[in-house]
Amino acid sequence: MRKVRSGYRYYSPGIGRWLSRDPIGGAGVNIYAFVVNSPAGGFDLLGLAADTHERCESALDAFWQNNQPWKNLKDSYEAEGCNLNAQCAQCECPDPEKKPDPEKKQCAGLGCTWDRRKRGQKRGTIELVVCENRGGGSWQKTFAHELVHYFDFCSGAADWDCWARKSLADPDFTPVYKCICAEMICMEMRAAWATGDCDRSKPKAVCLEKIYKRYNHKPQCQNPKISLEDIRDDIEQNCSVTGGYPSFPTLP
Ligand SMILES: [Zn+2]
Repeated sequence: MRKVRSGYRYYSPGIGRWLSRDPIGGAGVNIYAFVVNSPAGGFDLLGLAADTHERCESALDAFWQNNQPWKNLKDSYEAEGCNLNAQCAQCECPDPEKKPDPEKKQCAGLGCTWDRRKRGQKRGTIELVVCENRGGGSWQKTFAHELVHYFDFCSGAADWDCWARKSLADPDFTPVYKCICAEMICMEMRAAWATGDCDRSKPKAVCLEKIYKRYNHKPQCQNPKISLEDIRDDIEQNCSVTGGYPSFPTLP
């Protein structure tokens, strides 16, 4: 029994790092949840949870090894001061009643990326979390998706500067709302295109339909509600799905 458990704990090559961290506190594992859910096997499950963290981090390492151009681009952005703090962590879903708190890693999806820099500043840190408790086996894909967001934050490709676009002749904020929704949809289209989540043999418009359906519930497109037709032309003209990252990544 103990040997099996050791097998889990030492499964991954990152043993040194595993031993040097506090796997319970550091990974945010809820001991009581595991023990309560399965009293007899509580400790084995803890071993598995720590192992999940380790396997997720190994997946990120493997991504860098298999995608040197992506690593090089990351290094060049970091050399300019646009730093990446990428980690595997346990994510919790945000409370719908409250604003999402990025400090608490409240990612509703498989991962999340947020820009910690002050507005208009080039230097600073972008936070990236791959949710180790979700999407097991697809961590590298999630990582690639989130890295496109990181590259876009660093390069400014994600910034449509919606307020600057607002014409003084516009009597209301509608153009700004449409622009903010289109910007978010464009970011997600770029990530989906890069990771093969959108079928690259089909036109960009097909990707737009898919991504709009998936993300239009987000506040950027809901307050007020922005329809697909409202953003279609802007996306067609201003959203490049291929620029800014080095070809497509190798994914397992
Ligand atoms: Zn995304």
